Amino acid sequence: MTESRGVAADGAGPRDVIILGSGCAGLTAAVYAARANLRPLLIDGHEGGGQLSLTTDVENFPGFPQGILGPELVENMRQQAARFGTEYRGGSATAADLSRRPFRVTIDGGTELQTRTLIIASGASARLLGLDSEKRLIGHGVSTCATCDGFFYRGKKVIVAGGGDSAMEEGTFLTKFADRVTIVHRRDALRASKIMQDRGRKNPRVEFILDTTIDDILGKEKVEGARLRNLKTGRTWDMAVDGVFIAIGHVPNTGIFKGQLEMDKSGYIVTGEGSRTSVPGVFAAGDCQDHVYRQAITAAGSGCMAAIDAERFLEAEGH
Ligand code: NAP
Repeated sequence: MTESRGVAADGAGPRDVIILGSGCAGLTAAVYAARANLRPLLIDGHEGGGQLSLTTDVENFPGFPQGILGPELVENMRQQAARFGTEYRGGSATAADLSRRPFRVTIDGGTELQTRTLIIASGASARLLGLDSEKRLIGHGVSTCATCDGFFYRGKKVIVAGGGDSAMEEGTFLTKFADRVTIVHRRDALRASKIMQDRGRKNPRVEFILDTTIDDILGKEKVEGARLRNLKTGRTWDMAVDGVFIAIGHVPNTGIFKGQLEMDKSGYIVTGEGSRTSVPGVFAAGDCQDHVYRQAITAAGSGCMAAIDAERFLEAEGH
């Protein structure tokens, strides 16, 4: 491996900054860290581009009055960070040692990298219902990404599980392809914002089944239906569908830091002042530490904060 700018990545010496995650938070941190001349190394992670790369139109990121496609926005950020000297590396962090400095991060169970500061921007991944059938049929009719898989459901019938903005967005998007989209939600009230609910309710191809849970996903090789249960009446019935899209929120990708960093009960990293974590020199940004706002713009903002915090930390340490 060649190290072009003096600081070796693979055992030869620590980096100033390693950033974990290539979503909005990580890439914004990279832009700022690179412009501060810290030569950041960014590890892409298992979902390159983060959640933005799985969306279509982004209409609420300031600066784009006509909206912008999620993958395009993230690619722009990537190029912007590269322009100032960010280095990219594929793979995911599979282990970390934050007990000593420089910190150690293992990539894909192999190479160990060392760094003086670490910015964790590892995001959050789709939560699943926890059914055996769901695990077995993922990629065979069970999906967590309508943008990725919607195309395969032209003229078909699908269920979307969830009652939040994601469920509304995925459900509405799927009507571009599917004949019928049934949103199944466990309560009688949706969690989604009014505007997103209205979009779903106005769409003639979207129907809602409330107070209902998915007990099982049916089908051997591919999804053929779902077993539903009304939580108020107890009635159980099977609905024939070709796909089940799970849109019930996300879990933070913070497993490798368990026991090393302070986290809340759901596994989100606790940040104190700015982006500081419980370990000095380790900073967190984006959805791995934010279960409240979870927007592209707030992730970008927190990535900026993490880079500035890392820069000041290094400066205070005399680097
Ligand atoms: P969310 O707001 O946390 O909603 C998750 C939904 O899934 C809730 O309705 C929840 O039910 C349900 N759920 C959770 N666990 C479940 C389980 N085990 N079984 C069945 N149902 C379950 O997550 P989200 O919809 O992904 O949204 C996350 C954030 O992103 C929000 O801040 C949202 O505003 C934002 N977002 C915005 C847009 C947009 O503006 N275009 C689009 C997507 C997301 P309960 O309601 O009963 O808890």
